Amino acid sequence: MSNLKVGIIGAGSAVFSMRIISDLCKTPGLSGTHVCLMDIDEKRLNNVLILANELSKYFGANLTFEKVSSIEKAIDGADFVINTAMAGGHGYLEEVRRIGEKHGYYRGIDSQNYNFVHDYRNLTNWNQFALFLKIAKTIERKAPKAWYLQAANPVLEGTTLVSTQTNIKMVGFCHGHYAVEMLAKLVGVKEYEWQVAGVNHGIWLTKFTTKDGKALYPEIDNHKGKLEHKPDSPFDDQLSPVAWDMYDFYGLFPIGDTVRNSTWKYHRDLQTKIKWYGAPWGGADSELGWKWYVDGLTDIVSTVDKFAEVVSKGLRLDQVKTGTEIDNSINDILGEKLSGEQHVPFIDSIVNKNKRRFVVNMLNNGKIEGLDDDIAVEVCAQVCGENIEFEETNLPKRIVDWYLKPRTLLAKQALEAFLTKDTRLIADILERDWRTNNSEQVRGLIDELYPFVIAEMKKIEDEK
Ligand code: NAD
Repeated sequence: MSNLKVGIIGAGSAVFSMRIISDLCKTPGLSGTHVCLMDIDEKRLNNVLILANELSKYFGANLTFEKVSSIEKAIDGADFVINTAMAGGHGYLEEVRRIGEKHGYYRGIDSQNYNFVHDYRNLTNWNQFALFLKIAKTIERKAPKAWYLQAANPVLEGTTLVSTQTNIKMVGFCHGHYAVEMLAKLVGVKEYEWQVAGVNHGIWLTKFTTKDGKALYPEIDNHKGKLEHKPDSPFDDQLSPVAWDMYDFYGLFPIGDTVRNSTWKYHRDLQTKIKWYGAPWGGADSELGWKWYVDGLTDIVSTVDKFAEVVSKGLRLDQVKTGTEIDNSINDILGEKLSGEQHVPFIDSIVNKNKRRFVVNMLNNGKIEGLDDDIAVEVCAQVCGENIEFEETNLPKRIVDWYLKPRTLLAKQALEAFLTKDTRLIADILERDWRTNNSEQVRGLIDELYPFVIAEMKKIEDEK
């Protein structure tokens, strides 16, 4: 019996909630855990609680769930706190983008070299940064020994912010590295050795061999220039022309969301995006690709709602008719396999000393040569109990100097602007932006956007 307390902030998250809760149910070593679900959206919270209780019954898991109304209650005495919340939601991101585009900044001002992922805002998400700090400072007061597990974006800036401003134990997680499987499929191997390193949404395949050490990069090279790219979805970009072009320039293959994050060369406008990421969407971060994504998330939330309704009427999960829309989307959760999210296996490795390999975001402190110590990097590590062994890694100078250094500098500048609330720093970034025609444009943008950004941040600071 673990007798743990796990707090989940933003428990109504479309992306994470059901996956994390079902993973908890499928991990026998965490039996006895009490899970506190917290969200500001009452309806989502109620529905997630109904499903969590039902999933626990379905798997015969010995877990208890409770919904709480404040961050403080979710954290008080917790052993682990998982943050999946998005302050302001997708509506906030859209408003920020709208104001940016009104002033001539296609896809909003946060879209910058090395950072195009649309829900990964670092110049305007001051509400999200305020929430990260609020959670972290509450952990310092109410659960100083707890681990803070960051799922919410931006993971690079969020992990750096919390790890430099507080003394809590923290790790950031992303699921982008699973895209290595696409390359394994391309070269026809099922078993292989791999390693990635870099920063979140900026990771590179530093090792790719067969189990007996034969290099697999030459096998990748055999496909160069021979693949026709017809994406199945806006996110189908691991083998897009962008990925091959980045490989050619930087010397290693970019993995997962890294393919979305290079320079304006691939992002200048919709036509450019379509040329590089493929028709019809032009990748996940174009106006078309992002709409496709957000529509899908809305479907997930409404599926959770429908499910909760069915369960409230007395039907058990396994009695839901097969072949229905509801049944299809819940199948993965009801299967035996874990979701692939790293949060619950990480908790199990810490608590039960089940040694596993993870891709973690933590402060550099020498893990990647050439980068500052006080910036979060994403690297492979073995975790067993509280012992974390980081794998040594070797990134080419081209990647460190031409990709990771400018990206981490942007992260630091974004965090300094947030911490000082000095919009002149934002203006300075925009003065270097190719979309800026004159300083009046910058001033007009700042004057309209930042009162909104600051008001939304204050809402978070004032919330209990
Ligand atoms: P979502 O809007 O569906 O869910 C976020 C939840 O946070 C909502 O239920 C909302 O009510 C809640 N919330 C908002 N403000 C809150 C507050 N002040 N306190 C408590 N709860 C609050 O968003 P989503 O699409 O599920 O994404 C959630 C986060 O995960 C985003 O930051 C997104 O960028 C990130 N994300 C991370 C990864 C990764 O691999 N790390 C992958 C996808 C998405």
